[in-house]
Amino acid sequence: MREAVRDSRKFIVHKHRARSLHYDLRLESQGVLKSWAVPKGPSLDPGQKRLAVEVEDHPLGYGDFEGVIPEGEYGAGKVIIWDRGSFEVRSEHETFEEMLARGAAKLVLRGEKLRGGFALVRTKWGGGKNNWLLIKEKDDDARPGSEITAEEPLSVVTGRDIDDPPGGKDHD
Ligand code: MN
Repeated sequence: MREAVRDSRKFIVHKHRARSLHYDLRLESQGVLKSWAVPKGPSLDPGQKRLAVEVEDHPLGYGDFEGVIPEGEYGAGKVIIWDRGSFEVRSEHETFEEMLARGAAKLVLRGEKLRGGFALVRTKWGGGKNNWLLIKEKDDDARPGSEITAEEPLSVVTGRDIDDPPGGKDHD
């Protein structure tokens, strides 16, 4: 029974225009959102290995945040929910936490934009110990040659562009 219920967890990808535009991958683990900053954003092209720099955990509730982080606060800038859904690990005998500790997680994402298998693998590449790579697996959801961040730039919650003024589409 434990096997059946342990699995479905939240994932969120925030699109965040701070000092530079990036995407924040957030994966639920033990009551928090483990977080990685992905400078180029996720890709559905298995040929793309996207750098994902592990950053500090965020509270679960932050997954619902879309808006503006004020000047002077950490991460000041605009944030939209670029994708969200649930994920599971692809293993019968290893938990997500065990995979992270080992530095190699096999995930199945069920978002609106990101779907199917992904690998999140710690790398020495770039020298930092917080560096991981996010790689789409070759499966039916893979789209070689595509750039999902360019094709589908808007919030999945409000339909807003990251540069629309807050609330600007709320009165349509
Ligand atoms: Mn960020």
